[in-house]
Amino acid sequence: MTQPAIVADQLTYRYGDRVAVDHTSFDVAEGEIFGFLGPNGAGKSTTVKLLTGQLRPSDGHATLLGIDIARQPNEVQRHIGVAFENVNLYEQMSALENLTLFARLFSVRGFDGMALLEKVGLAGREKERVSPYSKGMKQRLMLARALVNTPRILFLDEPTDGLDPVSSKTIHQIIRDASEHGTTVFLTTHDMVEADKLCDRVAFIHQGRIVALDSPSALKRQYGTRALMVEIDGADGTTVRREIPLDQPQTPDILAQLLRENRVATLHSEEATLEDIFVEITGRGLLG
Ligand code: ATP
Repeated sequence: MTQPAIVADQLTYRYGDRVAVDHTSFDVAEGEIFGFLGPNGAGKSTTVKLLTGQLRPSDGHATLLGIDIARQPNEVQRHIGVAFENVNLYEQMSALENLTLFARLFSVRGFDGMALLEKVGLAGREKERVSPYSKGMKQRLMLARALVNTPRILFLDEPTDGLDPVSSKTIHQIIRDASEHGTTVFLTTHDMVEADKLCDRVAFIHQGRIVALDSPSALKRQYGTRALMVEIDGADGTTVRREIPLDQPQTPDILAQLLRENRVATLHSEEATLEDIFVEITGRGLLG
């Protein structure tokens, strides 16, 4: 069996008395898109800082590509790319200059900045200063910068937060592309729709602990209730919406009756969202 790209083993971090990450353990396979989901303050950013060597664990340890990040941070950092939520580009430089500078820092040979800018949809704007770029353009440039050293593991903290659907779509495509080429993607988000669409597996983090971990579809099967949403025509010309849970003994009879009476206006299935499941497990939502 190939070794996992990321292993967190009882990873713990305390800011003084506050436990931000509390004995979390998980593995991420090579090439996997792994989502780390939780509300503000759950411990997502702290976990990323531990995994990228910006913080040293109070307890437990993490290995990336088999190397202990706390012991050999420089060795690991050669193989990772990081794009955090806070934009930290050189705003007075152009996009191409930003990337070229990074390529030099990483000693990347034969660096092709234009190909990377093409990939993130910024070709044609490469010579402009970054400061007046839109938020979406800056996020895409941050992603390009994270890809400069062709990382084996890519860490993305809220990669599409506050972006319009077109910019988000571009970023999702780049993430999928990276994963298809074998890059492992560790993504933190509180956007459950994004996680559902993109991630092979998601971990729910709540108060520093992992409370569920599986593929979005397995979580839905395990926790969600499947239901049919039916719009029923009433005798007085009104339409009422009714939710009929599936997987219950009386479901076929209820449905058959409605169909016989020819009262069904529309009928579609509805499955639990990751947000519903998070609420079910933790008693609170992902936002706020
Ligand atoms: P967000 O989505 O808001 O970024 P998060 O899930 O990334 O939240 P963290 O930033 O990891 O959460 O914070 C976890 C806990 O640690 C929170 O209770 C937070 O208040 C606390 N915390 C984070 N940074 C510090 C710090 N520098 N000093 C003290 N406490 C901190």
